[in-house]
Amino acid sequence: MSERVIPLVDQRIPTLSAPAAAFEPATRMAANGLLADRLGRPLRDLRISVTDRCNFRCNYCMPKETFDKDYPYLPHSALLSFEEITRVARLFAAHGVRKIRLTGGEPLLRKNIEILIKQLAALRTVDGEPLDLTLTTNGSLLTRKAQALKDAGLRRITVSLDGLDDAVFRRMNDVDFPVADVLAGIEAAKAAGLGPIKINMVVKRGTNEHEILPMVRHFKGSGMVLRFIEYMDVGATNGWRMDEVLPSSEVVKLIQTEMPLIQLEPSAPGETAERWGFADAEGRHDVAAGEIGVISSVTHAFCGDCNRARLSTEGRLYLCLFATQGHDLRSLIRGEASDADIISAIGHIWGARDDRYSEQRAAQPPDTGHPSQRRVEMSYIGG
Ligand code: SAM
Ligand code: SF4
Ligand code: SF4
Repeated sequence: MSERVIPLVDQRIPTLSAPAAAFEPATRMAANGLLADRLGRPLRDLRISVTDRCNFRCNYCMPKETFDKDYPYLPHSALLSFEEITRVARLFAAHGVRKIRLTGGEPLLRKNIEILIKQLAALRTVDGEPLDLTLTTNGSLLTRKAQALKDAGLRRITVSLDGLDDAVFRRMNDVDFPVADVLAGIEAAKAAGLGPIKINMVVKRGTNEHEILPMVRHFKGSGMVLRFIEYMDVGATNGWRMDEVLPSSEVVKLIQTEMPLIQLEPSAPGETAERWGFADAEGRHDVAAGEIGVISSVTHAFCGDCNRARLSTEGRLYLCLFATQGHDLRSLIRGEASDADIISAIGHIWGARDDRYSEQRAAQPPDTGHPSQRRVEMSYIGG
């Protein structure tokens, strides 16, 4: 077996954060809900990572060789508190954010997460509507937590599941976690009314593509939407190779060999998933059978209408999943900054954004391994 040596570099060190000058702009910016970046993209979706820890070791995300017992996880004092998260989320909402997704690491490992959900559920968009509040989980703790999450005000949930075959699933989570427990968690979420439930499957060529059809058969007609995600080159530790990416076009083609599909309209602007409905005998969408989604993060860039910002576990704002640098909001939150100061800082940071990594992937300079080039890990900024 070939050995992969992955140097451990902590991309969270302060010198790599954006210069403090970003927070002292000459002009003050208020929130009017119309904020746009340099490419005209609004800010609508905020993903908040509530922990950098996880009880799984999916090798495409937190490979065991790096995320071992010596890995320097953040101390609790470095994490944004629930009050800090809620405050910053409220300020993002003032800028036009309508959707908040809690993620991680494994968000259900964060103690008393339902208290945070309750606080976030009380926030309103600029139009006075409740936020579209959702959470992405590996499902391992859902049987215990689903009802409490629902009661706290969580609306929907996305569960990651990379296969139905127990041996494949145990190998992919790399902690020998049984698939039956996640399936029971999904049922618990359904029973609690956390719907519509989305199921995310990362497809790695040579690892779990033979699970695609069993997964489609299982979730067809269930009211849940199964989405296939191309294995991405996020972070710097998963040893990503293009030949392990199974393009979404091939996933759709494979499903069509057994179940005819027709393409559906996107559900919302900036939506990452391409939607495909199961077709009936007349070639029309069979609504009862439902739909699947494909997220072609590698083969079909969707940066053009990317309206997503990411807040790391320790309060750094990342403007792209593939960013190498984050903007330190925590020092503002914990300093003397007023709400208006933070609103202004967020406005200036988003206003200067021109990230579009996926569109430029092929033109990226080769990774030299220098810390300044190192992309943040998915477990730190969330998916
Ligand atoms: N632990 C939770 C989970 O697994 O759902 C939430 C955090 S996880 C980082 C969020 C999503 O990112 C999951 O659906 C996971 O499958 C996906 N993900 C992680 N690494 C990925 C990669 N290299 N390529 C594509 N998706 C990835
Ligand atoms: Fe954990 Fe989610 Fe990453 Fe898997 S994908 S290691 S469950 S954070
Ligand atoms: Fe958005 Fe960056 Fe992904 Fe493009 S690569 S869609 S800018 S997160």
